[in-house]
Amino acid sequence: MLFKRGFASSNLANYYDIVINGGGMIGSVLACKLAKNTALRDVSVLLVESSPEKNWDAELRKEAGSFSNRVSSLNENTKTLLQNVDIWEALKSISCHGVSQIKVWGYGSKNIATTFDVDDVKTFDNLAYIVENHILIAAAMKELLTLKDNVHVLHNSSISTFNLPQSDENNVKIRLNDGSPIECGILLGTDGANSKVRQAMGVQYISWNYNQRAIVATLKINQNEKNNTAWQKFLPNGPIALLPLADDVSSLVWTTSPDHAKTLLSLSDESFVDALNTALFEEPVPDVLTENVSNVISKVLNALKVPEKRKNIIPPTITDVVENSRSSFPLGFGHAANYVAPRVALIGDAAHKVHPLAGQGVNLGFADIQCFDSVLTKHKSFGAKLGCANCLNEYETSRQRNNVPKLVAIDLIQKIAGHQWPPLLMATNAALQISDAVPQIKKCLINSAAA
Ligand SMILES: Cc1cc2nc3c(=O)[nH]c(=O)nc-3n(C[C@H](O)[C@H](O)[C@H](O)COP(=O)(O)OP(=O)(O)OC[C@H]3O[C@@H](n4cnc5c(N)ncnc54)[C@H](O)[C@@H]3O)c2cc1C
Repeated sequence: MLFKRGFASSNLANYYDIVINGGGMIGSVLACKLAKNTALRDVSVLLVESSPEKNWDAELRKEAGSFSNRVSSLNENTKTLLQNVDIWEALKSISCHGVSQIKVWGYGSKNIATTFDVDDVKTFDNLAYIVENHILIAAAMKELLTLKDNVHVLHNSSISTFNLPQSDENNVKIRLNDGSPIECGILLGTDGANSKVRQAMGVQYISWNYNQRAIVATLKINQNEKNNTAWQKFLPNGPIALLPLADDVSSLVWTTSPDHAKTLLSLSDESFVDALNTALFEEPVPDVLTENVSNVISKVLNALKVPEKRKNIIPPTITDVVENSRSSFPLGFGHAANYVAPRVALIGDAAHKVHPLAGQGVNLGFADIQCFDSVLTKHKSFGAKLGCANCLNEYETSRQRNNVPKLVAIDLIQKIAGHQWPPLLMATNAALQISDAVPQIKKCLINSAAA
């Protein structure tokens, strides 16, 4: 049976103001954010996570040179959030590699590429930061140990029954898998793309599979310069991304068809490295019509006085793949038509799931956290009941306005980029050429990805 704690706004046994279901990157950082919000000092929080508790200190004692194959590219906005909850410094000292350049090109367009450089904006130190997911979670969980007065964390636990209210007059009633009944003012679903909270809400969920898998792996690379560049090549089966982790180590996210992924996973390490280098360096015979269209665009850009700086793209050569670091994940799209119901809200992948090609998935979830925390604080300062309909609706409207255009744009890129049908190939090349040449477009894309 669950222990009792100091109850803020109710005297009910096993009452919490907020229950967060799911302690992944989003749930654990959300718990830190709410617990550190001085305006919510009297609010009790329970974090329920189905996986076992780990020794967080041991997780954070990383062996030099060893890297997990699960990494995320975090943007500037996420960095600010992690700084606010005091876990950025720990993360930075253990697992964080800055990306100062991003180079994007396509199959059949090697000399047509877009290079994003941190100097294009001058407002950030880096365009992105590559961190290991498990280190981020360990840093947040360790921080939560210092916040025990506000947050109780239950591992090896899940919600077995949900009794969600019809209106915001009533509390949420849940039962944990050990039989403990809990009542809460707000239930937050941070339990990922297959969210049980979302299922209990019964909201419409628009989703599809891309019929693609992402192979992840840790790679040894040969690079003459400092390894601060993220590379992405769009191939007909999907993009290959190399994310820098250390001077001679990068993380791979190779999107491809399920059959090809199966073959790639079955190869020996050496054959896999050969296949990867071939995919990175091989180019098809140029299509004359596509070349002509590119030349016309070049002339137009020159006439408009935004000349291109065409350069051959030379990615690093892969020299090895870390043993047993290869695995793969199915890719899909998902979006909940509603993020909220009376006294319930969805945050992170529970609300929206995107293709990893733009490195936005978890960043959108972190932006959800910032928004949720700020609307909760605002409505509490008005004296409104915690989790009132106005507050949750404001969160939903604000986040859907921001998330939906990004989800649509990423889905569109997934469908178009890398396609070898000449009109789509020309469209991709034109987008790469124009975005590389016009500084305002580049700035706009960088700022949008950072927010
Ligand atoms: C190959 C790949 C690469 C990616 N790269 C990037 C990137 O570079 N940048 C980026 O921004 N995003 C990236 N993403 C997306 C990112 O990984 C997700 O957006 C992120 O993991 C979502 O975090 P989350 O905490 O919302 O959900 P999850 O990571 O799914 O976490 C959910 C948590 O809830 C727990 N849980 C699940 N069900 C229950 C339950 N019933 N009860 C209790 N607990 C439960 C789970 O154990 C887990 O801890 C990538 C995704 C993939 C597949």
